[in-house]
Amino acid sequence: MERKLLGFGTMRLPLIENDYGTVDVEKFKKMVDIYIERGYTHFDTSYVYHNGKSETAIREALVKRHPRDVFTVTDKMPVWLIKKREDYQKTFDVQLERCALEYFDYYWLHALGSPSVETSEKLGGFEFINQMKKEGKIRNIGFSFHDTAETLDKILINHPEMEYVQLIVNYIDWINDGIEIRKCYETAVKHKKQVIVMEPLKGGALANVPKEIENKFKEYNPNISAAAWAFRWVASLDGIFMILSGMSTIEQLLDNMNTFDQLTPLNVEEQQLISEAQEILNKKSPNNCTFCGECQKACPEKLAIPVYIGLYNNRKMFKAGGWQNMVYDAVGTRYGKETDCTDCKECETVCEQNIKITDIIKEFQEVMKPVY
Ligand code: SF4
Ligand code: SF4
Repeated sequence: MERKLLGFGTMRLPLIENDYGTVDVEKFKKMVDIYIERGYTHFDTSYVYHNGKSETAIREALVKRHPRDVFTVTDKMPVWLIKKREDYQKTFDVQLERCALEYFDYYWLHALGSPSVETSEKLGGFEFINQMKKEGKIRNIGFSFHDTAETLDKILINHPEMEYVQLIVNYIDWINDGIEIRKCYETAVKHKKQVIVMEPLKGGALANVPKEIENKFKEYNPNISAAAWAFRWVASLDGIFMILSGMSTIEQLLDNMNTFDQLTPLNVEEQQLISEAQEILNKKSPNNCTFCGECQKACPEKLAIPVYIGLYNNRKMFKAGGWQNMVYDAVGTRYGKETDCTDCKECETVCEQNIKITDIIKEFQEVMKPVY
């Protein structure tokens, strides 16, 4: 089976009456048929997408209607719901049944980060997926990840058997050093892992770029969309196994397939245009943090201030992105929450950018209210 780079993410399926828990399966069937007909093969689901209805939609629209050898499916263990060892098997069995599959082609521990890495170690999550692979119920194992590069490095040292890492990668998060997207990607590549990319368009933001950027793109090549530029940038990186896009409409599906049908890496001039787009977007950042880390060194509480600023800037500039709250929880577990701040202002005395760090900290909770 020929493998194309575009994977069908099923966390934003068409809905009935805008209800997240009610997937419009008839519309999804049409999208699945078009996708398969054009030679695309891969679907990405999870226990929690659409409150479990993504998995049943996969069964109805895909598994019951297409031969098993024309598609592959990734499913994921919701590690944050696992309270005891037996829960892994129970959850996994429910997933196989919901999807009406005998095995998953790919299976991840979903959204690993602190504290779910530690819990998965303690309760045997890694052992479980290894065991399922031995039994033939999973073909390939890995995990999706929302935390710092240091944590990712540790997981990959402790678990060299993990074959894939699913990460957020896009050209704007790439330059926000506070959230370590680039470092995480580099860590996965260093460990020679295959990378599956999520959020290549940053929740749609890179499909609707500011006019200034759109004009630059159109001037260079009037025939491709802003989304195509973002996809091609990701596809130009080494070690990319798959790029997932959560598609809700046939129009999005067709547009994406038109891009991926003739996906070419960016040339030098095009890379330069992306750098200019990054600069333009970066100028919209609420502050000039360089993520130098001096504030964290000066902080008596050793709070991870640069990460918090990275998350804050990200959320202020691009409203969407529930994953940011996962990074926030993970970092807070390890370094202490920003609510531990005593307002001593030591951090501000060392910041060469004169950033009013304590103002950001005070606003942080409000800005980071979960957005899904
Ligand atoms: S010292 Fe200032 S510029 Fe450096 S990471 Fe902290 S806030 Fe950002
Ligand atoms: S004001 Fe808060 S963040 Fe800054 S150094 Fe003091 S405790 Fe740390």
